[in-house]
Amino acid sequence: MIWKGGKRWVYSITYDEGCEKLLDHALAVHREYGIPGHVALVASQIGVPRNCPGSSYDGMMILSREQIHMLTAEGWGVSCHSMTHVGISRENAHYEVVQSRKVIEDALEMPVTMFCVPGNNNSYPASHAVARESGYTSIMTIYDDVNTIETDVLRLNRCPLHTQYPAPFYSAFDPYKRIHQAIDCGGWIIDYCHCPMPGKPIHPHKDCTVEELAMRFETVRRVGGDDIWLAEPNEVVDFILRHKENIHEAG
Ligand SMILES: [Zn+2]
Repeated sequence: MIWKGGKRWVYSITYDEGCEKLLDHALAVHREYGIPGHVALVASQIGVPRNCPGSSYDGMMILSREQIHMLTAEGWGVSCHSMTHVGISRENAHYEVVQSRKVIEDALEMPVTMFCVPGNNNSYPASHAVARESGYTSIMTIYDDVNTIETDVLRLNRCPLHTQYPAPFYSAFDPYKRIHQAIDCGGWIIDYCHCPMPGKPIHPHKDCTVEELAMRFETVRRVGGDDIWLAEPNEVVDFILRHKENIHEAG
């Protein structure tokens, strides 16, 4: 299994919602370890305090277009995380998935071809049903697993990077999570969290701390050595789609 540049496995990380505090707390860690980030943005919430009633990150300032452009200029990527972050059903899929793509592309003045399912995977089937007509080429879910080059890019798995999981297991943070599995299968890990904070996570089951983020990156780089491709998810999707086209043409 050969990824770009002959690398044997791939590591990515995404932050849902795109809180401005990423600039204070996560960006320096990314720069230190040379790992690109990615923000999944609610289309109606760029550069404003988050206003998604019921959301646990409500009120937090969201990255502005200029801040997002600064991040993409250093290799970060973006995806659309719906229009308003409600659960997605057949009834609202056109607004939340199809129209949101136009809104976010206009707001950011750049193409957005990845959708990130909001809330939980109950929103996945209705999102998937309209993804192609929306012009998306990929969808990130929160099914927790490793991807491979054969994975359906319209159902990408992500690995939650959290300080402590909810009941009944209360699983503690593991900097090695899925790494050896990814090495063995030539896989692709997409970590996800929201907004790492120093010392104490905003929600232990939705986030890690900045210190845990640094520990994760250190572990990825140390264990990955020369075999790892540190990539932004859109780049990896492009690579997989090209790979599938080549196989199709050859076959
Ligand atoms: Zn979200």
